[in-house]
Amino acid sequence: MEWIQSERGGRKLLLGGYMYVKQKDLADGYEGFECELRRNTRQCRAKIKVMGDNQFRDRTEHNHPPNHGRSNATKVKAATKRRATESNERPQQVLMATLCEVTEEGRAALPSLNNMRRNIRRQRQENPNALPIPMTVEDLEIPVDQRLTLGGELFLYHDSGRNDPRRILVFTTERNLQLLSTSESWFADGTFKVVPTIFFQLWTIHATYEGHVVPLVYCLMLNKDQASYYMQGY
Ligand SMILES: [Zn+2]
Repeated sequence: MEWIQSERGGRKLLLGGYMYVKQKDLADGYEGFECELRRNTRQCRAKIKVMGDNQFRDRTEHNHPPNHGRSNATKVKAATKRRATESNERPQQVLMATLCEVTEEGRAALPSLNNMRRNIRRQRQENPNALPIPMTVEDLEIPVDQRLTLGGELFLYHDSGRNDPRRILVFTTERNLQLLSTSESWFADGTFKVVPTIFFQLWTIHATYEGHVVPLVYCLMLNKDQASYYMQGY
C-alpha cells in the first residue's frame, strides 16, 4: 500500500495495481476510498477503507483487472514532480533519482524522457517557492507539515536538533514501532548510497512481518561513531 500526492493536492492510494481516491471520512475512524475508475465509463464500485498507513479492508470487488504499469508510472510521475519542485537538481539528476523506482510495465506507461525533462522545467516554473536544498546539517529544518506520512501519521519521530554535532533524524511510525516490538528478529544495517550528501549514512532497522523482511525505522546519521548509537533519553 502506497500513497501519492494527486494532481489537485489530495492523496491517492495505490494497492495491488489499483488506484483509489478519497471519498469521505467514515464514522468508525476509517477513511473511505473509492476506485479511481468510479466516475469513468467503467463505473467501478470497488471501495476500500483505511486507517493510518497499514490497516485496510477491502469492501467491494473491482469490475476490471489491476494495472500495475499505470500504478507504477503514476507513482514515478508523482515522485518526479515532488523532487522537481523541492530540489534544485538538474532535470537529468531528478530523473536518475526517480526512475530507479520504475518497473518494466511502468516504463511503457511513462512519457518519453524528453517529455519528462520538459515537465520538470514546467513544474518548476509553476512552483517558484520550492524550499532550497540545505547545504549543511545546521541549515536543515524540516517543516511541520513534512514530518507526517501522506496518511497523516507522525513520521519524523525524533530529531536531536540543529545544534547537535551528532545530529540524528529518526523516521518511523507508531505502527512500525508496534511491529518492531512484536518481531523476534531485527536486522540493522547502514547504507551510504541513497543518503543526502550532508549526512553520512542512513541506518535502517528491518524486521520480519508476515514472512517478509520490511524496513521499519530509518535514521539519518552524521557518522558511525559508537556514541551515535546510544541515544540520549531512549
Ligand atoms: Zn476498480
